Amino acid sequence: MNSKKLKDMYQQLVNKLEERSRLGGVMATMHWDQEVIMPKAAAENRSKQMAALAGVLHDKSVDVEIGSLIDKLFEGDLNNFTEIEQCNIYEAKREYELETKIPKQLIQELAELSSSGHQVWAKARQENKFEDFAPTLERLIILKKKWAEFAFPELDPYDANIDIFERGMRMECLTPIFDTLKKELIPLIDAIRKSPINPDIGFLRGNFPIDKQEALGRIISKDIGFDYDRGRMDVSVHPFCGGGHPTDVRITTRYRSESFIDSLFAVIHETGHGLYEQGRMLGFMDLPVSEPLTMAIHESQSLFWERMIGQNFYFCDHYLNLFVETFPESMQGVSLDTLYAAINRCDPSFIRVEADEVTYPLHIILRYEIEKELFDESISVKDLPDIWNYKMEEYLGVSPPSNSEGVLQDVHWSGGAFGYFPSYTLGAMYACQFYSKMLLDINDISKQIKEGNFSCIKKWLNDNIHKAGRLYSPENLLYKVTGDSINPDFFISYLKQKYGQIYSL
Ligand code: ZN
Repeated sequence: MNSKKLKDMYQQLVNKLEERSRLGGVMATMHWDQEVIMPKAAAENRSKQMAALAGVLHDKSVDVEIGSLIDKLFEGDLNNFTEIEQCNIYEAKREYELETKIPKQLIQELAELSSSGHQVWAKARQENKFEDFAPTLERLIILKKKWAEFAFPELDPYDANIDIFERGMRMECLTPIFDTLKKELIPLIDAIRKSPINPDIGFLRGNFPIDKQEALGRIISKDIGFDYDRGRMDVSVHPFCGGGHPTDVRITTRYRSESFIDSLFAVIHETGHGLYEQGRMLGFMDLPVSEPLTMAIHESQSLFWERMIGQNFYFCDHYLNLFVETFPESMQGVSLDTLYAAINRCDPSFIRVEADEVTYPLHIILRYEIEKELFDESISVKDLPDIWNYKMEEYLGVSPPSNSEGVLQDVHWSGGAFGYFPSYTLGAMYACQFYSKMLLDINDISKQIKEGNFSCIKKWLNDNIHKAGRLYSPENLLYKVTGDSINPDFFISYLKQKYGQIYSL
C-alpha cells in the first residue's frame, strides 16, 4: 500500500477517534453536572440519558470500520508515521481489542451487577451486614476472572485486572515492593506511636467561614497554576476532578465550617489532577496520544502537589501569614513549626481516605493482599471480615469497631474495580521519585516554594510528564524522567527523614 493511501486511512481513523473522544467529553460533562448542580428529581432521567449515551459510545468503540482501518494500517509500514501517529494507532488497537474481545453478555452482566452491587454495598455498609454484600462480591470476582480470560488470556487474572489501571504492572513486581514497604513502614509507625511528641492539631478545629475557605482555595489553586479560564472549582459530596476537555477542567471540593485544612488539601490534590489535564499536549487533545497515561501517573500528579509541595515546610512558611489573615481567631500566634507538624501528623486509623501519608500505604497493601488471594482462591469471601481485622491489627495496630468501618468502607469492590488500589501507592512512590529528580533539576527548590514561585515546578511537570501523554509506558516514562525504574527506597527514605525529624526519632 502506498504511503498516500496509508495516510488517508490514518486520517479516517483519527476522525473516528476524535468523534468518540468528543462524545466521551459530553458524558464527562453530564457526570459533572450530576454530581454538582443537577436537581435531585432529575436523577432517574439522567441515568437513562447517560445509559443512552453509553450505548452510543459503545457502538462507536466497536465499529467494525475502526477494526478494519487498524488491520490495514498494521498491514502497511508503520514507519510512514510519526511517533505521535504511531501511538494513536497502537492505542486505538488496544482499546478496540479490549472492547471487542469481551462477549456482549458478559459486559451486560458486569454492568448490571456493578450498578446493583453499589446499592447492595451501600445498604450493607449502613446496616453493618457484610453477609448481605458477600454474595455480590463473590459473583463480581467470578465475572472479573472471566472478563480477564477474554481480555488478556496470556495474563494471570489478577494481573489482567491491574493492567487496566496500571498497564504493564504485574504482581511479580508489585509484591516485593509492597513487602519492602511493609518491612520498613510498620516499625516506623510503631516508633512514631511511641514517640513522646504529639503534634497539636487543636487550632485546626474551630469556626472557619465557608466563603473565606473558598476564597483561600481559589488563591492557592491559582498560585500553583490552575487556569480558571480553562477550568472551574465547585462543590460536590466527594471531591473529584472531571470535565469534558483539557480546556474545560472541573475540580471540586467540599467544606465543613469546623475545619479548613481538609477542604484546602482536597483543593490542592484535585488541582494536581487538574494541572495534568490542562497540561496535555496541544494539537492532539481529542486523540489517545494526549490522554493521561494511567491511574497511578494521574495520582502521582495530585499527590505531588498535595504531599511534596502542600505538606512541605516551605509551603507552610509561604502561606502561614495568609492563613492567619484569613482565620485570625484560630491561627493567630500559631508558629511555623506547629503548623508544619500539625498538617503532617501521623495517626493510624481504620479509615483509608482519612489516612496520612505514612499509614496510607498499609491500607493499600492490605487490600492488595486480599484481592490477590481472593483471585487465586487462597482465601474466601466469607472470611474477609476476620482477615481484614487481623491485618489491620498487624499492620497498623488498630482494629475497626465494625465491618462498616472495616471491610465495607470502600466503594471500589462494589463496582467490580479490583486491581485499582495499588495505583494510589504507586502514585505516591512515583511522586516521590519525580520530586527527587526535580530537586536536581531546579536550583534551590525550597527557596522557590518559600517565595511562592510555583511556575518552575508546574513547568517541570508539564514538560516531563503532562506533555508526554501516552507516548511511553509508565515504566519507560519513569525511566526517561528519573533515570531509574520504580524503587521504593526513594519513598521510604523520604518518609523516614521527614517523620524522623518531626517525631525526633
Ligand atoms: Zn486523586
